[in-house]
Amino acid sequence: MTPMQISTTASDHPTDEARLAEIHANPGFGTYFTDHMLTVEWTPEKGWHDARIEPYGPLQIDPAAAVLHYAQEIFEGMKAYRHPDGSVWSFRPEANARRMARSSERLALPVMPEEEFVEYCDALVRADERWVPTSGEDGEKSLYLRPFMFASEVFLGVRPAQHVTFMVIASPVGSYFKGGVKPVTIWLTEQYSRAGRGGMGAAKTGGNYAASLVAQQEASAQGCDQVVFLDSVEGKYVEELGGMNLYFVYGDGRIVTPATGTILEGITRSSIIELAGKMGYTVEERKFSIDEWKEGVASGQITEIFACGTAAVVTPVGELRWEGGSLPSAPVGEVAMELRKQLVDIQFGRADDAFGWMHKIC
Ligand SMILES: *Cc1c(COP(=O)(O)O)cnc(C)c1O
Repeated sequence: MTPMQISTTASDHPTDEARLAEIHANPGFGTYFTDHMLTVEWTPEKGWHDARIEPYGPLQIDPAAAVLHYAQEIFEGMKAYRHPDGSVWSFRPEANARRMARSSERLALPVMPEEEFVEYCDALVRADERWVPTSGEDGEKSLYLRPFMFASEVFLGVRPAQHVTFMVIASPVGSYFKGGVKPVTIWLTEQYSRAGRGGMGAAKTGGNYAASLVAQQEASAQGCDQVVFLDSVEGKYVEELGGMNLYFVYGDGRIVTPATGTILEGITRSSIIELAGKMGYTVEERKFSIDEWKEGVASGQITEIFACGTAAVVTPVGELRWEGGSLPSAPVGEVAMELRKQLVDIQFGRADDAFGWMHKIC
């Protein structure tokens, strides 16, 4: 492969050290953005071209840009971690690249080659390296990377766009949990679905999030933190939360995670499948019904439930509520906390990377 040409225009007003220290002390989640952003354009004639790093700032977008009308858009989410020796690493970025390629195929967007995707993410991190925090007191501060791709063609006809823009932006983030990991309460929506058969459920696209928001509102109105979706055909099988995959731990050493064809397969989810296997658990990827959930908790056979994703890593699931009923909380489990610790320790370079998951950026 020929080396990629990325032109760089450095910001003439980079965030000063004092302000950056303030942001690093209290980053929140997705609130502050680094000094630069990376952009690459695509057309059928030229393929991917005009890769550039520029000062972070608003885009000029034509009101007729196709993405604003037909939502032809996909995204990814990953983190860059600073290790104790000062080096900066990402976690399985080639898995994000492959998933973005699958999302591209589903949304009729162009595929970006895996090594280009990884190189573009790395290039932005190198340009804004001082924005990668040290892991901090809670040991979980990192730089969140948001690669995304959208239909930038100016055209109101309905067909796959002939001009597409890929970008990477980055935001320093703290631990998802302020004051320790807490179980989330879950609302079971029986009215809304997130994805349908043959739909976009397995693609990481904004449209799936748009479809989930009203159900999330319903959950909030019921005093719950998150919503869980069932399959849209039978309303029987557990899919996932709006942005996290689910795991059910049985007292007999089995761990079950739903597989339905319409969930978004998380990289955290697949890493836990491997970690749990290595720890001696039997991992089952299969359809898992809401009745199994209710009965398993009632009988005590399910000892722990947790959700997982890049942002929160592993989150214990507490009470489940639905219209006219509820299930008590499973205790905050040891298995979830052990998996969480193993994963975070690998990501931050505090444990041996036995699976070869880490990718060195700088
Ligand atoms: C991104 C995402 C997840 C989690 O995936 P990770 O790769 O583990 O961060 C789960 N569900 C949905 C709908 C998502 O968009």
